[in-house]
Amino acid sequence: MSSRIERLRELLEEPLLVTNLVNVLYLTGFDSSNAALLVEPARARLFTDFRYIESARAVEGVETVQTKRSLIGWLSENLSGRIGFEADVLPWSFAEQLREGGIELVPRHGLVEQLRAVKDESELDTFRRACAITDRMFERLVSEVKFVGRRERDVAWDITRLYHEEGADEPAFEAIVGSGPTGARPHARAGDKVIEPGELVVIDTGANVGGYVSDYTRTLATGELDGEMREAYDVVLAAQQAGLEAIRAGVAGVEADAAARGVIEESDFAGTFGHGLGHGLGLDVHESPRLSTESADTLAAGNLVTVEPGVYLEGRFGIRIEDDVIVTEDGIENPVRFTKELVTVG
Ligand code: ZN
Ligand code: ZN
Repeated sequence: MSSRIERLRELLEEPLLVTNLVNVLYLTGFDSSNAALLVEPARARLFTDFRYIESARAVEGVETVQTKRSLIGWLSENLSGRIGFEADVLPWSFAEQLREGGIELVPRHGLVEQLRAVKDESELDTFRRACAITDRMFERLVSEVKFVGRRERDVAWDITRLYHEEGADEPAFEAIVGSGPTGARPHARAGDKVIEPGELVVIDTGANVGGYVSDYTRTLATGELDGEMREAYDVVLAAQQAGLEAIRAGVAGVEADAAARGVIEESDFAGTFGHGLGHGLGLDVHESPRLSTESADTLAAGNLVTVEPGVYLEGRFGIRIEDDVIVTEDGIENPVRFTKELVTVG
């Protein structure tokens, strides 16, 4: 962990106060709801309150400092000089408090996130375990769980149970189960709608294992589909394949997005893919880099990204297929095993 602090130091022009708790976890292994890390040239200080101080003392390579429960109040009274801060996460009121204490604050953006975007082997191994559990969850979901006649939220509950049984620490996020028209809203929650025969059901879900998350989507059929649904499924599958083939180190996020988007734009479903192709994942479900029409990122070996094109027809149905892949110098490693052939469930 302390080597991560070393790498961060190389990016700094002044000491950095890290207040994003996921960034603190990444840099130190310390998981807490009230902590901050000040990285200076010759030392790193980990601040937390009484509730967490004992576990903080177990962190190697940092000095541990016990503060009041009001951590920012304590820092404003005890720190001074020119200090960088994470401008995308520190609330304005906290910044004001630190400034009133006499600290000269320098806004900084994405420094730790930049490190987090490139995973090391131990992170990738943990991630592969999350994928193996997600694969097993999907296998059991389609073979053991009843869909037709049950509410979306009942299937979502089964997903949570299956993760538990397969050894996930917890679901990475609340599962999306979008049947029929619900599936046309990409981030719809699993609701009270009863799943009907002959529908498409979008299942977007992931597991958290050792802090690292997976994020898969499969679209299942509940019986015979009409021709348009089958055609749309094939288009999304072809778009996903084009996206996967476009990804390697050095490719821009916009280029990867365009490779998949082009397939949909040239089909009968042009204009129905309204979100980006993918996003980074790791300790968070959404992190750097981004694959979208608006992305400024370029892919690097060791990035972990989702590839998730979709087609959404308002009031009717949605289709999305999502894998998580590791970017390599000449392509990808795709640890996702669950089939992308259309699976019919009962
Ligand atoms: Zn997803
Ligand atoms: Zn995703």
